[in-house]
Amino acid sequence: MSTISQEQIAFDQQHIWHPYSSMINPPPAYAVESAQGVKIKLADGRELIDGMASWWSVIHGYGHPELNAAAHAQIDRVSHVMFGGLTHEPAIELSRRLIEMTPASLDKVFLADSGSVSVEVALKMAIQYWHARGKPGKHKLLTIRNGYHGDTFGAMSVCDPVTGMHEIFAGMLPQQFFAPAPQTTFDQPWDESDIQELQQLLEQKNEEIAALILEPIVQGAGGMRFYSPDYLKHARALCDQYDVLLIADEIATGFGRSGKLFACEHAGIEPDILCLGKAITGGYMTLAATLTTSEIGETISKGGAGCFMHGPTFMGNPLACAIANTSLRLLQENDWQGNVQRIEAKLKSGLAAARNLESVADVRCLGAIGVIEMKEAVNTVEIQKLFIERGLWIRPFGKLVYVMPPYVMSDAELDQLTSGMVDGIRHYRG
Ligand SMILES: *Cc1c(COP(=O)(O)O)cnc(C)c1O
Repeated sequence: MSTISQEQIAFDQQHIWHPYSSMINPPPAYAVESAQGVKIKLADGRELIDGMASWWSVIHGYGHPELNAAAHAQIDRVSHVMFGGLTHEPAIELSRRLIEMTPASLDKVFLADSGSVSVEVALKMAIQYWHARGKPGKHKLLTIRNGYHGDTFGAMSVCDPVTGMHEIFAGMLPQQFFAPAPQTTFDQPWDESDIQELQQLLEQKNEEIAALILEPIVQGAGGMRFYSPDYLKHARALCDQYDVLLIADEIATGFGRSGKLFACEHAGIEPDILCLGKAITGGYMTLAATLTTSEIGETISKGGAGCFMHGPTFMGNPLACAIANTSLRLLQENDWQGNVQRIEAKLKSGLAAARNLESVADVRCLGAIGVIEMKEAVNTVEIQKLFIERGLWIRPFGKLVYVMPPYVMSDAELDQLTSGMVDGIRHYRG
C-alpha cells in the first residue's frame, strides 16, 4: 500500500527542515501520496479532510481541473522568464484583476514571490516614500502586538516580540514601535480607550514612523484573534492625522476568508499599501503581491534612486500568475461569499459543543475561520494523532486548535470536521 519507504522517512527526519522543526527531535511528518478536493491522501492510504487549506491557501480544493488546465497550458507556453525588461500576459492580466478587486486607490502592483517578501516590499515602499519626500528620519515602523507578518528580518521585526522570539535575533533586528494588541473583539461595543496607546505612540513618534503595519481584523499566526472594525477605522484616521502610511497585511485574510473579499472592508477603510499572498494561486504556486497608490508609486520614482529598489529572480513568474488568474476567476464564479457564509454557520454550530469542555477557554468563528482556544498549550503531536484517527488534518499551535477550510468543503465534510475536532479535544489528555 505505502508508496514511501521507511528509509525515505528516516532521510527526511535526518536531513530536512520542516517549518519551525528540530534537527534532533523532529515531530513526525506524514507522507502525502496525493490530494484531491478537500482530502489529503497519505502514503499509507488514509484520507484526511484538510481543515487547514494548507495554511489558508487551497481555497478551491486540491487538483481542481481548471487550475490544473491553467498550469498545463502555461507550462507549454513559458513557465518562467525574467521580469526585468520583459513582460507577459499572465502578469498583466493578474495585475489588472488585482487592481479591479482591491480598493480604488490602489493601482500600482509589485508581484513578489512569497508573502514575507511582499511584506519586505511594503516596508521598503513606505521608507522609500518618506525618503523621497525629504523625510529620511521616518524610517521606523509601528505595529500592534500579537501580529504575524512573515519570517524574513524586516517582517520578523514587526511580528509579536514574544512569539516571534525577538531576543534571539536582537543584535540584527531593527527596533520598531509596538502598541498593545486591540482588546475589543469583533462584535463587542467599541471602547475608545482601546486605541489610546497607539494614538500616543503616533503623537510622540510620528517623525520617526514611516508606516503602521497590521493584519486587518484577524490576527492570524500571532493568536487567531478577531478584533473590532472600529479599531481599524480609528487607526486609519490616526495615520492620516499623523502623516503615517497604513500597510494592511491581508496575506491570510485576503480573497474572502474573513467574510469580506478583503478584511479592510469590515471597517470601510483603504490602506496605502496592501500585501496579498497565500490564497492568490489557490495554493498551487508561491506568489504574492504588494499594491499601492499612484501617489506613493510616483513619489518613490521621483526620489534619489529613481526607481523602487527591489526585484526578485522569480518576480511575476508566468506559471504562478496564470494559475492565479484562474484562481481569482473561480473565486468570483463560484460564489465565494455564499460559501464563506455557509462555512461560518457550520463552524459556529459545529464547534459550539466545545464550549462545554473542561479544557476549552474560548470558541470563536469569523468567516471561514473556526478557532477553539484551549486553557493550556497543547502537545501538537499528541492531539494531531487524535485528529488523524478521526480522518482530519489539523495543525494546532500553542493553545489554538483552529481550522480555515477550503471554500468548496461540503456540509457533510464540515460536520465531520467539526465533530471530529470536538471529539478529538474531548479525548485529549494534556
Ligand atoms: C503567512 C503570512 C505571511 C508570510 O507569508 P509567507 O508566504 O509564508 O512568506 C505574512 N503575513 C501574514 C498575515 C501571513 O499569514
